[in-house]
Amino acid sequence: MSKEHKYVYTFGAGKAEGDASMRNLLGGKGANLAEMCNIGLPVPAGFTITTDVCTYYYANDRTYPKELKKRVEAALAHVETIMGAQFGSAKNPLLVSCRSGARESMPGMMDTVLNIGLNEKTLEALARQSQNERFAWDSYRRFVQMYGDVVLEMKPKDKRDIDPFEKILEEVKHTAKVQYDSELSVDQLKDVVAQFKKMVKEHTGKDFPTDPMEQVWGAIGAVFSSWMNDRAVVYRRQYGIPHEWGTATNVQAMVFGNLGNDCATGVGLTRDGALGFPGFNGDYLVNAQGEDVVAGIRTPKRIEIDLPKEMPEAFQQLDNIGKTLERHYKDVQDIEFTIQRGKVWMLQTRNAKRTGFAAVRIAVDLVNEGLITEQEALQKRRIPADDLNQLLQPIFDPEAKKKASAAGKLLAKGIAAGPGAATGKICFHASDAEAMHAANPSVELILVRRETSPEDLRGMRVAKGILTAFGGASSHAALVSRQMGKVCIVGCGALNIDYHKETLVVAGKTLKPGDWISIDGFSGELYEGKVPTKPSEVVEVLLTRSKKPEESEIYQRYAQLMGWVDKFRRLRVRTNADQPDEAARAVAFGAEGIGLCRTEHMFFGHLDEIREMIVADTKASREKALAKLLPFQRDDFAGLFREMKGRPVTIRLLDPPLHEFLSEHHLHEQPGLAAKLARQLDVSPEAITRRVAGLKEMNPMLGHRGCRLGIVYPEITAMQARAIFEAACQVKKEGIDVHPEVMIPLVGFLAEYKNQEAIVREVADKVFKEKGVSIDFLVGTMIEIPRATVVADQIAQSAEFFSFGTNDLTQTTLGMSRDDYGAFIGYYQEHDIIGSDPFQTIDKEGVGGLMKIGVERGRRSRENLKIGICGEHGGDPASVMFCHEIDLDYVSCSPFRVPIARLAAAQAALVK
Ligand code: PEP
Ligand code: MG
Repeated sequence: MSKEHKYVYTFGAGKAEGDASMRNLLGGKGANLAEMCNIGLPVPAGFTITTDVCTYYYANDRTYPKELKKRVEAALAHVETIMGAQFGSAKNPLLVSCRSGARESMPGMMDTVLNIGLNEKTLEALARQSQNERFAWDSYRRFVQMYGDVVLEMKPKDKRDIDPFEKILEEVKHTAKVQYDSELSVDQLKDVVAQFKKMVKEHTGKDFPTDPMEQVWGAIGAVFSSWMNDRAVVYRRQYGIPHEWGTATNVQAMVFGNLGNDCATGVGLTRDGALGFPGFNGDYLVNAQGEDVVAGIRTPKRIEIDLPKEMPEAFQQLDNIGKTLERHYKDVQDIEFTIQRGKVWMLQTRNAKRTGFAAVRIAVDLVNEGLITEQEALQKRRIPADDLNQLLQPIFDPEAKKKASAAGKLLAKGIAAGPGAATGKICFHASDAEAMHAANPSVELILVRRETSPEDLRGMRVAKGILTAFGGASSHAALVSRQMGKVCIVGCGALNIDYHKETLVVAGKTLKPGDWISIDGFSGELYEGKVPTKPSEVVEVLLTRSKKPEESEIYQRYAQLMGWVDKFRRLRVRTNADQPDEAARAVAFGAEGIGLCRTEHMFFGHLDEIREMIVADTKASREKALAKLLPFQRDDFAGLFREMKGRPVTIRLLDPPLHEFLSEHHLHEQPGLAAKLARQLDVSPEAITRRVAGLKEMNPMLGHRGCRLGIVYPEITAMQARAIFEAACQVKKEGIDVHPEVMIPLVGFLAEYKNQEAIVREVADKVFKEKGVSIDFLVGTMIEIPRATVVADQIAQSAEFFSFGTNDLTQTTLGMSRDDYGAFIGYYQEHDIIGSDPFQTIDKEGVGGLMKIGVERGRRSRENLKIGICGEHGGDPASVMFCHEIDLDYVSCSPFRVPIARLAAAQAALVK
């Protein structure tokens, strides 16, 4: 048998054909089941149908390779031998489960079918063997329901509709006057099953399948098909998982957590996934099966609190397994298990999803415990750089919380599942949240649900926080929120939610959609109204200095981690800042210089003077206005130089189209403006109106902006250069080192660059003579239009540094307006035309291709040319990685992204 055609891999009885290294072929679940078998952990026997079969399935009109049937039959026979039971046997039946398992875990996105192989004959045998007729009928009831929902596609498409099987079940429970499924008698369960089957017949026109082989193939098909269901597709898009990967399908012998009170099913983490505390934790339900725990139907018990008392031996087994797994995988594991008559069986292990808080704590703790190296701690998969954001986010102000509690605003307490503080308006349906967000992207919403399911993914993504009435710390809502970095509370049992009336009744109050609530994802508390937030501990230590480092464990681990980050990264990290306070913040976060100071931002406080400069139509009147601007600019630059204490400061000359400061729109909005400007310039108001009309451009982004302004009006450049150098001399005289780097925007021709450079250097000479001080400075350019990348060798003959302006470079390379692309980019992403937003993550092939050309040609002329990036991409982890790959010297980003860029830079440097 050739290796390519080995479509099926078996595992069981301490031996497996696969191992953990084979996740591409076997999926994460299949590879880890094999690995657990190989390291001697208790795993029910089974087999994995490879992702190659999934690829074949979609390439061949949803059919299988012809040899698959034989392979599956042989593997099933192998499982029968190990388990000592036969699939479909009326005497000693084997039941199996069928679960998906992709290369990257996609929790809850695809389908699962349990108890396959049951029919009324095998059911009798199961009842006999287990001496538990109720268990057999309960298993059958679950099977028919799950198979009907998943394989026969009877699950409602609209979230507001009730599952037809649930409806029948609810009615029977109501008539029987019981609350839980587990309280139904055998006869009542038989009645439920009979009604289920009748409904299946009505719905599909066929009898419910009784042939176990037909059942298993139905389930395999449903699992492969679920790779392409809407929620899985959305999930992959969000997390950049390629659609081509496909899922594997795992068929595995059933073990039962619903045989009685010495049985249970559960999910757990070997350390806390919210804050990273050491120690096993998770949820379990006694006498329950499979999905009951994650589905959030009953609020489960806590493994670390209740299991040691209820089943001490099983807890011991589980704890030992957890330790073995952490040592083996060198990471926190997220496991699924079943306890069958006191024995623990492992159904899954995978590296646990975790919040940014937990990611940092766990990575640092694992190094301190000697389990991993510093380099391993920084791996992207352990701490996605973006997740650091969570440590830099606000939390509720404890005083404000106390006040809110004293005022009776504390409504309830649930399980804290996603840390942080969120305030927003109540929204009951994910689809409503999506629609409200589409209408107003800054809307603040808290999604309030009984529980969430994968269908709610899109709505969860746009909500500030998630609040559920049911479910535990490992429920769908908890897992997904944590991964998204959302604030989340689950299992808040005091909530009474009525979707139809659209009310949330809690603590005697009735709240409606649009009412404000606040949720604390650290403590699990729900408050009525808006509770003010306070900064993160890292921010308190670094920026506001309201906490000492020794008072914050979060800060201490952050600092240890960032120490390693700086040891391994090659890329320097600067910041985009125009104000001294922004610069100070960035430096506290580790910025090593300013990579972009947009001088036009400094003008917003001096609109009168800049407008006077714009409407001036003679050089003399323009110079008069510029003379008024000079002292403001000089003071602003001096402030930045002082704050940066000798670190390089890149100051860009005036860039934007002038109509941003003065246009017909401004005249229209402010009726007295034309008259005021007329007085300032001593001209008629009509002259002002005419001049403003003359400034109007059809396409301002491609109009009279960038260096084109300074070329046509050299006095603007001269004034800015004078302000920079006078400020530099002044600060140097104060004893502070200064390193200005003057940057010319939007250059496409060497002649443009030289024109502006000459003015800058001439002014510098003059100022240095006047002040009797000399300063080291550089003159360089933005590279932000395609022509500049292509003629970078020419430009670098004169320019001393380059900084990629990837905002404009993306706009001009893609011919996509940076202000208008929002209208269609969503559609493009939904339809897989473009994977990620090119204004957030560098379009590597297009824009990135030009950047490579620019780097290569620029350095051809000037070997040590310093090259950076200052577009928004400078703070995006994937783009930072790319900047490392193409050998830039630094990235520059907004202050709060500096730690993220530093981490991404280290991760890039550590990629083998
Ligand atoms: C850029 O174009 O990437 C850039 C940094 O300049 P601005 O965003 O100011 O046009
Ligand atoms: Mg630009």
